[in-house]
Amino acid sequence: VTIGVARESAQGEARVALTPETTRKYVAAGARVRVQRGAGAGAHVPDQAYADAGAELVDGDALADADIVLCVQPPAAHAIAGMKPGAVLVGALQPQADESRAEAIRSHGIVAFPLERLPRTTRAQAMDILSSQAGMAGYKATLIAAQLAPRFFPMLTTAAGTIRPSKVLVVGAGVAGLQAIATARRLGAQVEGFDVRPETREQIESLGGKFLDLGVSAAGEGGYARQLTDEERAEQQRRLAEHLKGVDVVVCTAAVPGRPAPKIISAAMVSGMKPGSVIVDLAAETGGNCELTRRGETIESGGVRIAGPLDLASMGALHASEMFARNVYNFVSLLLEGGGLVFDWDDELLAKTVWPERGEDPAVVP
Ligand code: NAD
Repeated sequence: VTIGVARESAQGEARVALTPETTRKYVAAGARVRVQRGAGAGAHVPDQAYADAGAELVDGDALADADIVLCVQPPAAHAIAGMKPGAVLVGALQPQADESRAEAIRSHGIVAFPLERLPRTTRAQAMDILSSQAGMAGYKATLIAAQLAPRFFPMLTTAAGTIRPSKVLVVGAGVAGLQAIATARRLGAQVEGFDVRPETREQIESLGGKFLDLGVSAAGEGGYARQLTDEERAEQQRRLAEHLKGVDVVVCTAAVPGRPAPKIISAAMVSGMKPGSVIVDLAAETGGNCELTRRGETIESGGVRIAGPLDLASMGALHASEMFARNVYNFVSLLLEGGGLVFDWDDELLAKTVWPERGEDPAVVP
């Protein structure tokens, strides 16, 4: 099989879905690997490193003759239309987000595996791009907060007196939130976290954070949170508003799969916060947890800085790519057998991830 990787075309995307490390693995598995020149530039991977790992460097189109195309964000519709009919496309594809792309996938018979659809089972952990990329996003969100804050994070005892540590609150303790908590702890802040899933208490505490109990528990299906009822939300809001008055930094990471980010911090709550406080809203991409968040901007409201950074994982493109590429390799290795391409539709990791969804008889498709 031939594997093709083009330069990412989405604005702000610095990651790459193939590294020299995974190139070696594909080559060892009998694949031919073709990489467009400059594909790794955003992640600081030189072309020569791919060549040394056994890839062919391509000046023009690296996708047209590929059986498997690897990407971080999906190629443009015309690039998908230029792929071989029946070829495999793997990445963070979000096919429903763009009708022309979805149509290109359907009409060219592309076998698309949007990895964000992967079931989050134990076996799939090594392929889980949501987790690996959320880790980088949570880490960077805390660093941005530290950068914007007019304070130290750690406690300092100096000749000029004692500096009290910053109080950091992390909203949502999923993968990104836990990494945000760990990062704030490493910087020496006093950290609290809360989530609506009760099992996060232990996880927050194991990182040296304190669980902030807002009296709401809303575990949903598949280990995710469910949306709160109006009463639950009101209770959470009331307790949180009071608590925020004493917090210096908030990192927001709350999400509910398939829905806009829950609005947790209202404008009124922000106006009750101390001047010099900082909110970094990692959920900005899906609308933000704070009512005042603006996508991709940092604004100030009543002395509180509110940042809504986008492309957080791209800010750590080198390590984010390393993890993403390993996730992709672990998934693609399910398709590679004896140097050829095989689809075991009895494997739920394939059957549940493939898009468009297969009908009653998945065996009829390529
Ligand atoms: P996510 O990005 O969907 O959500 C982030 C967090 O926001 C979640 O912890 C959620 O509970 C929380 N949240 C939602 N609404 C909230 C509200 N109103 N107030 C406060 N918090 C709110 O989640 P994620 O980080 O992708 O992962 C969620 C769960 O999935 C975790 O339990 C994680 O351990 C699990 N997971 C399992 C696997 C696996 O086994 N393969 C892999 C990754 C994640």
